[in-house]
Amino acid sequence: MRKDLKAISLVWLSKTGLTNLNSGEGGSQLVDIKKYRWQGKEYPYISGQAMRFYLKEAIRRELSPQEACIPNERGETCGNPKDCVLCDLFGYMGVIERREGEAGGANIRLSPLKVSPAMGLLPYDENAVVDFLTRRHRLEEGRLEGDIVNVELAVNIYKAGICLDLLRLGREEKLEKENGINRVIFAEVVDEKERERRLSLLLGAIGDFSDYSKQARLLTDFTPDILIASAQNNYSHRLQKALALKEDCQVNIELLRQIISEVKKESLKLFAALLEGVISNSEEVKKVLVEEGVELKDTPRQALESLREFLL
Ligand SMILES: [Zn+2]
Repeated sequence: MRKDLKAISLVWLSKTGLTNLNSGEGGSQLVDIKKYRWQGKEYPYISGQAMRFYLKEAIRRELSPQEACIPNERGETCGNPKDCVLCDLFGYMGVIERREGEAGGANIRLSPLKVSPAMGLLPYDENAVVDFLTRRHRLEEGRLEGDIVNVELAVNIYKAGICLDLLRLGREEKLEKENGINRVIFAEVVDEKERERRLSLLLGAIGDFSDYSKQARLLTDFTPDILIASAQNNYSHRLQKALALKEDCQVNIELLRQIISEVKKESLKLFAALLEGVISNSEEVKKVLVEEGVELKDTPRQALESLREFLL
């Protein structure tokens, strides 16, 4: 991996179809769809925790069972970033059992990967319908009984993003004492090749959200339709602000230009791609991106692949 890199940052828009937003995950307590209010209107969003869950599951599919743990009933994970790809990328928090004469405490790894919630950018009411499904079940004596279930169906454009702290990937923070002074160092727990593989797994998962959601009947498809990705020599979340929508599904061009011109100062390279039919001013957006030196690719998947090639 390039030595001059500190982080990768991705922000994307994803247009969801008319999907059942209340489908949940069957058995998990995570509630998928929540709503926030802004200027008197309601918008849907998917929590960062749920997004992390979807990403984790998409990565897990690519791993052998030995490489990724499953949380126990208290939600605790194995806490071994050397052997567990998910604990490395997503961090963990576990309680250390208190033994005679020891302090006990918590075993914590900050997540090198920050995942944003997916924020719906279009007002909920104007883009949703409620459908009634009739569920029928047979009572013990053989009589059929029905009840009605409300299913909310909605179309929206969601904004989501991630930022990965490359200094922490495959490494552990350790306190070191040198001449009486405490320092924090990052000690490698896996070799460079494995760090690169884990980075590739993450980028692959972002391109593959959809395959997973179909398999497990998760709520919807969060694959990027419009993606901007930066390879940064500084850790910052600024790129997350680059994509904002105005009325009529137009990306705010001035904001885009302002953010990209700042982010490129702390980036070695930026990639982007736009699929047609998501926003109404894609030609203008492409023009600004090219003017700001962003490398345009045909599809988000190609942009992710180009980023991967640039990083490794
Ligand atoms: Zn684990």
